[in-house]
Amino acid sequence: MMKKIFTLSLLVISLSSCNKGDLVDCQNLTSTQTADIPAECIPVPTDNPDSSVDLSTALPNEAYTFDTNIKFLNTTTTQQDKFDQAIELIKRVVATEEFRTAVINHTYNGSKTFVDNGGYTNSQIYQKMLEGAETLQPLKNNTMDMEVELYYAATSTVGYTNSGTTRIWVNTKYFNTNSIGGVAANLVHEWLHKLGFRHASSYTTSRDYSVPYAVGRMISRIGNGLN
Ligand SMILES: [Zn+2]
Repeated sequence: MMKKIFTLSLLVISLSSCNKGDLVDCQNLTSTQTADIPAECIPVPTDNPDSSVDLSTALPNEAYTFDTNIKFLNTTTTQQDKFDQAIELIKRVVATEEFRTAVINHTYNGSKTFVDNGGYTNSQIYQKMLEGAETLQPLKNNTMDMEVELYYAATSTVGYTNSGTTRIWVNTKYFNTNSIGGVAANLVHEWLHKLGFRHASSYTTSRDYSVPYAVGRMISRIGNGLN
């Protein structure tokens, strides 16, 4: 009983930190938490196995030329240096075969798919990342375009954004102690929202398999191996 109350209160904290007006799509620290979630809250994954991709082909040129165009707000020199290192790491990871393979072979419940995939196959999701056509900046420019603003809040929210803005907000409570790989993962997580990918607002096991959470984790895992 105590565990349930504890879990419930954590969920309430997560939800309340997600729902600042229309500010949704936040990344919370609760992704590894095991919560008692009613079955009806777990999104049903789209069953569209992606078997058409030939991973023996050369890595597309866009993986090597992938660039970033990010305006930073409220950063000190030290914080900016950390962001710069994270951006370099993102570019290095995107330029690896390991990253392409991880995205294209991502599996949920035995199918090569992501949860909340927007109807896209794994290879289409990989292609959309390389194209970099954000919903609000739809030019296919092979570039991660966004604004990043640092803020502080004593909440479980690592960062957040919403679909009506090109900006993402990053909480210094976690940013200042995060590894470079962790910062890189958070930037990519929030940027994937700019590409239109969503996930459940409160924690479910399946949320870890959504595009922002799963690809964010790939960035930090592969990036930590490169550093
Ligand atoms: Zn998110």
